[in-house]
Formats: sequence, structure tokens, C-alpha cells
Amino acid sequence: MDIEEFRKAGYQAIDRICDYYASLQERPVVSQVQPGYLVDALPSNPPEQAEDFNSIADDFQKMILPGITNWQHPNFFAYFPTACSLEGILGDLYSSSVSNPGFNWLSSPACTELEQVVMDWCAKLIGLGDHFLNKSGVGGGVIQTTASEACIVICVAARARYVRENPEAKLEDLVIYTTTQTHSLGVKAGLVLGLEVRALPVKPEDEYGLRGETLHQALAEDHAQGKRPFVLIGTVGTTSSGAVDNLEEIGEVLKEHPSIWLHVDSAWAGVAMACPEYRAFGKLDAINKYAESYDTNFHKASMRLNSWGLVNFDASMLWVRSRKNLTDALDVTPEFLRTKQHDAGLVVDYRNWHLGLGRRFRSLKVWFVLRRYGIEGFRKHIREGVELNEYFASLVRASPSFELVTTPSLALSVFRLTLPPSVSSELEGKDETTVRTAQNDLNRAFHTRISAHSDKIFLTQTMLNDTFCVRFAVGAQRTRKAHVDAAWELVQENAREATEEWLQQRTKV
Ligand SMILES: *Cc1c(COP(=O)(O)O)cnc(C)c1O
Repeated sequence: MDIEEFRKAGYQAIDRICDYYASLQERPVVSQVQPGYLVDALPSNPPEQAEDFNSIADDFQKMILPGITNWQHPNFFAYFPTACSLEGILGDLYSSSVSNPGFNWLSSPACTELEQVVMDWCAKLIGLGDHFLNKSGVGGGVIQTTASEACIVICVAARARYVRENPEAKLEDLVIYTTTQTHSLGVKAGLVLGLEVRALPVKPEDEYGLRGETLHQALAEDHAQGKRPFVLIGTVGTTSSGAVDNLEEIGEVLKEHPSIWLHVDSAWAGVAMACPEYRAFGKLDAINKYAESYDTNFHKASMRLNSWGLVNFDASMLWVRSRKNLTDALDVTPEFLRTKQHDAGLVVDYRNWHLGLGRRFRSLKVWFVLRRYGIEGFRKHIREGVELNEYFASLVRASPSFELVTTPSLALSVFRLTLPPSVSSELEGKDETTVRTAQNDLNRAFHTRISAHSDKIFLTQTMLNDTFCVRFAVGAQRTRKAHVDAAWELVQENAREATEEWLQQRTKV
């Protein structure tokens, strides 16, 4: 492709991207293709001869787009909010245009220095303390691909620090602490590193957040058995229900155990701290006081509606109190990667702050987005997302057929159907398990039914201890009050049908 061909193909690509967004509302929310649809349709070998670019671009429209689940669709209420902004897309485009692996300062000084600057901007945006800033020269921030990878990086650094401080420790005795509500990133880190993971229990009466007392007990048990917990992955805003661990209590318990590293995963909720009124919810003070590291995904930062969102996938922001803990664990510098700027201590070489060597120029899209929105715009969008979820929660509260399982958490509500009055009275006096099983069955039937309409709406389910629930996560950039109203209609309609059918089956049995 020469430059003039690129110019034409580029204009066409932008046109098609614009058309895609303009027609988003008419597309199915969840891709409706069957497994193997693309594998069967594509040749099993690469083409022998070069193909015309137009036919390649056309195949994106014909073959790829139908297999895309439209996370930006206004009726997407599943998983967590995910972002994609036109500014972010342009940032990625410019980043591709200067494609380079940016692994050390010299390989492209702008890649490193822009990342240092935007990580400090983001830290200030959400209120992190000065000790997390790159400017501090001691702590600092780095963009990782995902929260899961950030968690592995942290476990590697925490393990190296622990073994340095406790040279007699055997690797097989090391334990990663999580809770039963921690994202699977904890288990993943354990698998990758070959380390035991212990999931501490949490209770419904604590809204599924970890308490200091539970941690204290677990530590006593494990230490008595010669085990060595070395890192605790705390969460602010679990994926399942938006639960928040009691970081104040945890921090106090860990004061007695300074070798244990506290990492806080706030992958989807963290950006809400851009608004001062959500900082108490986000446990900002405790994070600044106790956390050794903190991670939030700016690519999940799309709790907004009126306009295009924020940073598109991927941009997981990781901050550490001490950058030396990362580089002590991850610095490998073969001769060919040495530079005089690094040897002189003048520059940051981010390759020693993460797992890979090369890295994408992600700071560019963050920079574009933050400048286009400003702090004010960022806050506005977050507030709108939270308000919309509060609206949904108010509809649930007002309906006798539904209940909220936990207090709504920012842009996430966890709810379920209540048992119909006839079944409630039939089960009166029965044990808790029988009642819960019946309610779980009913809600499974409801979720199965609404999932059959995945072209129109997408909600995901979760288990909170033994309770089956349905999640409503606001976030797609075009979601407005009217979409929440329409979603609520669909929820009610499917609930009615599912309940009727479930009741019929019950009487048959
Ligand atoms: C989404 C999410 C993750 C995983 O994020 P990745 O960046 O995809 O690894 C981890 N923790 C929480 C709380 C999440 O919501």
C-alpha cells in the first residue's frame, strides 16, 4: 500500500467507523452467531497471492462485525461498564502510526515521559497521595495491559520483597490472600506463580466486604501451620456486587505484619474517585495510608451516557508506593539494553515495571481523552452513570416482585425476584436452604429467559455466597434514562413469564 492508497483506505475506514456508531442502536446487543461461524467461513491457509485491500476491508464489515458483541450498545448492562471514546480511537491510531516498542526511555523518549505525566494526572484526578506520583521519584505509576496482569506483577514484586526480608521462607509455604469475592485475577496469579491462594470468607451482613477480624484469624491459623501469607489482594468494588473490603480494619491488622503487601484492586470502581463525593466509598484515605499498590482500569471508566466515553481498551493504571520493589523483582538488563541515560539514573525504563519487554504507547489515548474531557467533564459523566443506576435501583425497590440483594454500588445494582406470595406462604416455616433453593431456581429461570433476548438486552448473573442474583451495570456510553426504562420493561415482562412457567412446573412436580 502506498501513501495515496492509505489515504483513501483511511478515509473509508473512518467513514465506516462513523457508520458503525451511528447504527449501533439497531444492532443486536450480543452477537447472534453460532460457535465456529468464522472458523468455518475462512480459508484454513493464508492467501497465496496478495489480495486487494477493498475486499479485506469489506470482509471486516461482512464477517467480523456480526461476530462482535456490542459493548458500546445502550442496552448493554452486563459485566461492567467499558469505555470507548472517539478520542481514544484516534489516540490509538496515532499510536499505531509511530509504532514502536517503547521499552526504554531511549527507544522513544515521548512514550516514557508522556506515560509518567499522564499517570501523575490520573493519580491526582482520583486523589491518590503524592507518594504514588512519578514526580516523587520513589513511588510511581505505570500502564499495564489489564488488572489481572497488574496483579501478577504485584505478586511477583511482593514475593521478591518477602523473600528478601525473610530469607528462610520456603516458596511452597507462601500464600496469596484474597476473599471469596475477589476477581479471578487472584486465582490466576496463584496459577501462574505456582503459589497457594486462600480465599477468606465474607458475610452478607458486611455487604460481602472483608473484615479485619477475619484476616486476623486467618493469619493466626496460617502462621501456626508454618504458612507464610505475603500479599493480600483487597478489592474496592468487586465485579460481582461492588463490595468494598474494610481497608481501615485490614490496614490496622497488617501493621503487625509489615512484610505482607496490601494490593488494592479497584478495576472498575476506582475512576469514580474522580468525584470527591465517592472517595469515602472508594476508601481513598485508607488506600493512601495503607496500600502498597493500587490498580484501576481507565478502560472501564465509562460510567456516563450523553457523550462518547473515556479511554478505550486497554489501559490498566497501576501505582506503587515504591518503584524499587518492582525493579528489584523485574529488572533484567542484558548488555544490549543498557543505555547511558539509564546507567546515570536519569530516566525511567518502564520495561522493568511489567512482564513484557515491549509495550504499547497507551498514554497517548489517555492524554487525548483527559484533555478533551477535562476533570469537569470526567466527573460529570461519572455522576450521570451513578444517577442512572440509582434510578434503576429505585424501580427495583418500588416493585413488590423484586428486591435488591446488596446496596447499589456506584453504577452497579444486584437484584433478584422475590418468591410469589403463594410459594412464600407454602414455604413458611421451612428451613433457610429450602427457601433459598426455591428462590435461586426461580431466578435462574428468569435469567435464562431474559438471556434468550440477548439481541435486545444483556444482563449477567452472579452468585453471592449461596444466593443467585442478576446484575445490572450501567455504563454503555449511549445509555440514557429511556434505555433504563425499556430495560426495566423487559426485565418485568421476562420475570412475569418466567414466574408463570416456573409455577406451572412446580405444581407438576
Ligand atoms: C474487570 C475486573 C478485573 C479484571 O480486569 P482485567 O483488566 O480484564 O484483568 C479485576 N477486578 C475487578 C474488580 C474487575 O471488575
